[in-house]
Amino acid sequence: MAEFRRYLALQKLMGDDIPRCYGLCVGWNTACLVTSLVPNHAPSRKLSKAGAIYAVLRKMHQAGWAHNDVVDDGSRSPRNLLWNSEGRPVLIDLVTATRHTCNQGCSELMRLQKALGLTNHDVTIWAR
Ligand SMILES: [Zn+2]
Repeated sequence: MAEFRRYLALQKLMGDDIPRCYGLCVGWNTACLVTSLVPNHAPSRKLSKAGAIYAVLRKMHQAGWAHNDVVDDGSRSPRNLLWNSEGRPVLIDLVTATRHTCNQGCSELMRLQKALGLTNHDVTIWAR
């Protein structure tokens, strides 16, 4: 239920930056979130993979939400993302997402920047 509400709150990102959510099926002691399938293609060669990942998370932050499970401090590779048929990253698994007011020095974006090895200049370019 909570994840369904997060999809509804992030409706403007659906289909591009997060999967499209078609609804919530509730049954006997169970609930099932119905989302579009993201087939996980290879990242586009035209995009900077790291920059595109940073940009998609930044869009979510600008929409007022932190994902909270993209960066694991012990790992350099982001998780909970797939690559759509156009080779662009799509954030998945919004279970841990929380309302967020993004500001300069945002901890999730800074941890992602560090994990991806992006410079401040890279981030400025991808923040456009
Ligand atoms: Zn933020």
